[in-house]
Amino acid sequence: MDTFRGQSVLPPSSSPRRGEDYTSPPMAERAKGKPGWGIEGGEKSILIEGGTIVTVDDAGHVYNPGYVLSEGDRIVAVGAGEAPSALHARAGECIDASLMAVMPGMVNGHTHLFQTFIRGLADDKPLLDWLKAAIWPVAQALSEEEAYLAALLGFVENLRGGATAVVDHQYIHTDPHNDDGVCRAAEETGARFLLARGWTDMGYHPAFMESSDRIVEEMTRLHDAWHGRAEDRIRVEFGPLIPWGCSEATMRRTYALAQAWDVGVHIHVAETQEEVAINLEKRGNRHIEWLADLGILGPDVQLVHSVWLDDGELDLVAEHGAVVVHCPVSNMYLASGVARIREMRQRGIPVALATDGPGSNNNQDMLEVLKTTALLQKVATLDAMALLPEDVLWMACRGGAAAFGQPALIGSLEVGKSADLVLVDLDTPFAMPVHRAPSALVYNVSGGAVDTVIVDGEILMRDKRVLCVDEKALLAEARVACARLFERAGVVVD
Ligand SMILES: [Zn+2]
Repeated sequence: MDTFRGQSVLPPSSSPRRGEDYTSPPMAERAKGKPGWGIEGGEKSILIEGGTIVTVDDAGHVYNPGYVLSEGDRIVAVGAGEAPSALHARAGECIDASLMAVMPGMVNGHTHLFQTFIRGLADDKPLLDWLKAAIWPVAQALSEEEAYLAALLGFVENLRGGATAVVDHQYIHTDPHNDDGVCRAAEETGARFLLARGWTDMGYHPAFMESSDRIVEEMTRLHDAWHGRAEDRIRVEFGPLIPWGCSEATMRRTYALAQAWDVGVHIHVAETQEEVAINLEKRGNRHIEWLADLGILGPDVQLVHSVWLDDGELDLVAEHGAVVVHCPVSNMYLASGVARIREMRQRGIPVALATDGPGSNNNQDMLEVLKTTALLQKVATLDAMALLPEDVLWMACRGGAAAFGQPALIGSLEVGKSADLVLVDLDTPFAMPVHRAPSALVYNVSGGAVDTVIVDGEILMRDKRVLCVDEKALLAEARVACARLFERAGVVVD
């Protein structure tokens, strides 16, 4: 596995980005959407040109205008200006990105896809009350088919919000095949997917707890069935739910397996003060201290939330190299607190961004998360420069790639990386006039502006139309399934 550390984790905030002045490039003459297959070997090739290419590479290059050429599942050329004619000859399909930003597909570093069916059910509650009022009653009744439909809806939502890679912390095993349903949805949409198979073996709601043997047995089955499926777009890792729901014995046992399989560990930590107090009372240490004692704090570990970390814990995370996954909208929604993101970055801790489950957001719009990330740090630090747009894009793409465990594969528009791209329409009343594309992406636009989404060189969405599933039919089916689930769960919505 490539390590994120040793790379330039933090781009210099103040360094100027080249070619960022936004002027309207002439509309390309080439026909939009020309179908076809390009180069020898029958590999699909797509040339995107005319737009502002926000590469999120180490130097933060922005090309306005610029071009990107993909062949098969990889990016083979990125550059400034018009694409050379030789590249045109290689392209089977040309996409005119005039007045758009072309950016790497973002990584939604933490969500709970089943919660697409639960959003809006229990607004205005703190975490533990929210779990009891909304999440647990509905989740207990979830069937595999509903897990599949909720996930399908969630993947479409993620694509529309600019995320091409999704980490699902899936801990609802009321039906043993819920996880398979979620993986099936990932395979059908073509999204890149990391299933963090959740588990709890103590102190949690009894409906969701499992024995250590059962956890290992199911993880082994899922790893065999899904890890590496869909041209390696689907991967599986361990998802211990929460420190107060996980025994030390099973933490150690599953981490040994994770290391043997070369997969990661994904865990909620220090989301609320109350949870930190529980650990202090029962174990005598804070969440990060507990993980450090267990030896589970390396670059293969994703620490979701990390709101209530003290100075010593920040130092421990920096020293061991774990990735923090920041969920600002959810932290605000549940009144959990403000993670110390600026200080984490100053310490060199890689930080990824995420929506968290749509039950506590209430959507999965990563473009909205970008803006919230910047604003929350500004207001918490009273520093208008706490995070610049480039810093936020870096977290969503490069930090996300580190959290996803594939920093060499995704996260930037560079030759050799996977062709995971998003085209965002900047020719809208929300963004005009665009002076700097990174700023417009962070502060002006939301999911509605996403025009085209490409994963592994496959076009999943084009001209704001989802191509990978019948979206209207899915919405209708999900509406019916959701009502049936609520009825079975005995949940009455007023
Ligand atoms: Zn969560």
